[in-house]
Amino acid sequence: MKPVHEPVLAYGPYALDVETIHAVVLKKTPGIFVLGRKSEKNFIPAYIGRSDLDIGMRLQQYTKSNFDVFMFDYVPTSKSAFFSECTLYHTLGGEEGKLENTAHPHPPVFSKWQCPLCSIFWDLDDYN
Ligand SMILES: [Zn+2]
Repeated sequence: MKPVHEPVLAYGPYALDVETIHAVVLKKTPGIFVLGRKSEKNFIPAYIGRSDLDIGMRLQQYTKSNFDVFMFDYVPTSKSAFFSECTLYHTLGGEEGKLENTAHPHPPVFSKWQCPLCSIFWDLDDYN
């Protein structure tokens, strides 16, 4: 995996632990995040995700994972969270297996949103 020198998202990288998340994630809003590992001075992205409601609460679910650091950003709505997550997925090479995400980001169950960057099609019958 290629180290990333430029910031991937607005905030971070920060240590992925309970105290740090409490200290740096101050707004209870939708958001997107990248989890990764440190390599010397670089941040190596490994896993991306989003929260449709509360980015800090979502990040707390990963404090016992094998990732060291995280970056995040706030977004105004769950729709922008989904679109931003798709963009991250494609920008960081998720399609080519460069992330540990096992699947393309999935829209919230109440929506029919499609990825703006690829032709992946959600079988809407899954939601019935
Ligand atoms: Zn896509």
